[in-house]
Amino acid sequence: MSTSPSAAGSIAVLAVAKPSPLLAPRLNAAFEVHALDATLPAGVPAETAPRIRAIFASGESRVSAELIANLPALEIISVMGVGYDGIDVAAAKARGVVVTHTPDVLNDDVADLAIGLMLSAARQLPAADRHVRAGLWPQGTLPLARKMSGARIGIVGMGRIGQAIAQRALGFNMTVAYTARSAKPRLPWAYLPDAASLAAVSDFLVVITPGGAGTRKLINAEVLAALGASSPQKGILVNVARGSVVDEAALIEALENGVIAGAGLDVFETEPNVPERLRALPQVVLAPHIGSATGQTRQAMADLAFDNLQCQLSGQPVKTPVPECRPAE
Ligand code: NAP
Repeated sequence: MSTSPSAAGSIAVLAVAKPSPLLAPRLNAAFEVHALDATLPAGVPAETAPRIRAIFASGESRVSAELIANLPALEIISVMGVGYDGIDVAAAKARGVVVTHTPDVLNDDVADLAIGLMLSAARQLPAADRHVRAGLWPQGTLPLARKMSGARIGIVGMGRIGQAIAQRALGFNMTVAYTARSAKPRLPWAYLPDAASLAAVSDFLVVITPGGAGTRKLINAEVLAALGASSPQKGILVNVARGSVVDEAALIEALENGVIAGAGLDVFETEPNVPERLRALPQVVLAPHIGSATGQTRQAMADLAFDNLQCQLSGQPVKTPVPECRPAE
């Protein structure tokens, strides 16, 4: 098998997301990489489409049933990210195309960011930074903030990252409770059956489920009202999952009307566009979807995404298929 991009018989890969600089050199050296042309039904010229054997995607990419149908030689969709809600996995499976992702290697970073957003929102770190930078300290300091240590954290989604967040929260002497699709009897924390009942007993509600149809607007006005009523200080929402999981209009209403105390948000419904009303609120800490964005973690994700491609295209079992594509046990 040739790995030269220009050699006859080289393996053609369609990149539906721009490969990170941590991955691009390896990808280009091993494969013939074609950037997506969204104006074409197969994403590539008709003469190239029958040769595409792999798709490279990011966690935010969309890969539709139509695109899969237009690539007859497709074998694998390798996602550099753990979330794959934009990939039509059912269509891929129906065609025998394996979908892979990069779980676990990013748990630490996303959990770290969740804690960072909690602290930033509770202690108003961005406002404190702006205050000092603007030379306002001599005129007075800031209003008192609120304590995070010892508070109650409710985690919506107790998977790989949810558990990493819980472990960190224990270091802050927080009381941990969670909700998920099912209770985890091996975990020592209280399970609540839904997000609203969890919010009602949480000072911080941290959202870390997958996106997609199953979780769309899971955090709605009712959940936010419960979070607001959880204590006289009112709760704080942190979303490091997907923008689709929170009803953003309901969140803006809740913040503007003082229903909840504040929010820390890494993901948004129509990112990278963030509504002006949300950007105007001082009690909200905003981040541009940087949960896994450290050099170390992005390198590990790039390596795993590449390994999955390499394994599949050299006839080896892939390393990290998504659950729907795992062989039956
Ligand atoms: P995971 O191990 O699959 O855990 C997902 C958790 O969500 C599971 O506990 C699952 O419940 C729960 N869940 C799924 N659907 C639910 C529903 N309808 N209601 C309540 N809980 C539900 O996934 P992970 O590796 O922790 O990653 C979670 C997500 O984080 C990813 O899918 C991605 O969207 C997001 N993420 C964001 C960033 C970022 O940059 N901000 C980075 C990485 C990941 P069960 O355990 O009962 O099945």
